Amino acid sequence: SYRCRSAFKLLEIDDQHRILRPGLRVIDCGAAPGAWSQVAVERVNSSGADPGLPAGFVVGVDLLRLAPLDGAHFLSPCDVTDAATPARLQELLPASVADVILSDMAPNASGFRELDHERLVGMCLSLVDMAEGVLRPGGTLLCKVWDGGLAHQLHKKLAQAFKEVRTIKPKASRKESAELFFLAKSYKDK
Ligand code: SAM
Repeated sequence: SYRCRSAFKLLEIDDQHRILRPGLRVIDCGAAPGAWSQVAVERVNSSGADPGLPAGFVVGVDLLRLAPLDGAHFLSPCDVTDAATPARLQELLPASVADVILSDMAPNASGFRELDHERLVGMCLSLVDMAEGVLRPGGTLLCKVWDGGLAHQLHKKLAQAFKEVRTIKPKASRKESAELFFLAKSYKDK
């Protein structure tokens, strides 16, 4: 069973958009308590559950500590927006690069919707900067954002760095009305 219901959002998105497959190297940002990492481990075969398929790699990052998970490495406590984090990730990743960056990060709710929106967009923008050191050309970034006035800034920055950006609203997150996901594909060569 999954550590958190959020797993179903990633399962739904991945069933539709085929982001994860055996052999891929994945960074899961804002990973605690670990449900997305569980999905990633299954889909990239990072625990080697299916010896007939290529084995992937999963590293989760969170400010909070995570309980160990077979097939995943965790950097925790660790701040994704910290300037030292990309180097820590590169050290762990096979060949120092990832194929996929996932982010379900969320700031602690302040109670002010617009402020929370701004903070989350800021975190996602820093994720695009982090991609520069750790995401391979052609790679994929999926990030959660709360809709609001600055979402277009994030969309624009993603569209500069990736060939294709889609906005996704999974059924599993319908009740959280402001939540949507940007799926950015084909990270550009510099
Ligand atoms: N995807 C997770 C799962 O399926 O178990 C749930 C993630 S939860 C909605 C959001 C997480 O983002 C929290 O655990 C929080 O600690 C983390 N977070 C927020 N800001 C962060 C940051 N700057 N660096 C790393 N993690 C952060």
